[in-house]
Amino acid sequence: MCRRLTILLVMLLPLGLGACATSPLGRSQLALFDDSQLQQQGAEAYQQYAGSHERATGATADYASCVANAIIRELPQGDGPEQWQVGVFKDDSPNAFALPGGYVVINSGMLKVAENQDQLATVVGHEMAHVLADHANERTSTQTLTQSGLGVIQAVAGSGGEQLATLLGAGAQYGILLPYSRKQESEADVLGLRLMARAGFNPEASLQLWQNMSQASGSNEPPAWASTHPSNGQRINALESHMSEAQQTAARAREASLRPDCQRP
Ligand SMILES: [Zn+2]
Repeated sequence: MCRRLTILLVMLLPLGLGACATSPLGRSQLALFDDSQLQQQGAEAYQQYAGSHERATGATADYASCVANAIIRELPQGDGPEQWQVGVFKDDSPNAFALPGGYVVINSGMLKVAENQDQLATVVGHEMAHVLADHANERTSTQTLTQSGLGVIQAVAGSGGEQLATLLGAGAQYGILLPYSRKQESEADVLGLRLMARAGFNPEASLQLWQNMSQASGSNEPPAWASTHPSNGQRINALESHMSEAQQTAARAREASLRPDCQRP
């Protein structure tokens, strides 16, 4: 994507706004926004969600938090947000997501589709991987440039900075809630598998989880968060090709006494 947008980037560079980044899996990414801008948007989106949903309590909240915290404790050092906040909410839709700034949201409905702690860790690992890989910045940047490309050119050619900042600000506001691209989904699958394995969860469980997700969305509308996800078959093939690496990671974690034991209510 960076290469295709080179012309626009060249125009943005004098303003210090054009930037290419590299994802944890080595993919070249477009990143126009400051981390702080996205973190602020993430915080606002989280507050909004928390303000309009009832919090889950007791065993449900303990269980989901136990899984998320087990992964958070073993995240690679210096990667992503310094602190994470985990919110578990009473909502039957099988939804979970993570936001820039370090917010993890898990709906109680997700616990029906994720049948055990390892399956739930698959979901949480996947969502946190989107944040660690800076996918929101990439998605927002791409969207802003492709949708308002003309506006950006005009802004740069004309009065410059202030106008451009307004344009990018508008992009960031809707950008963090955009669906992820298929490439990003595949990247989050692989990276997420690594994250849950590092915490000592069983990576094999990811295969069943995505089967369950597929079934859960079979008869009804697909869950919003899964709507752009790769097909079940593609996803399972990709996971299988990374399985032996993930199993080795999980074995090392267990040797280091990482054996999560989150009690499903
Ligand atoms: Zn995803």
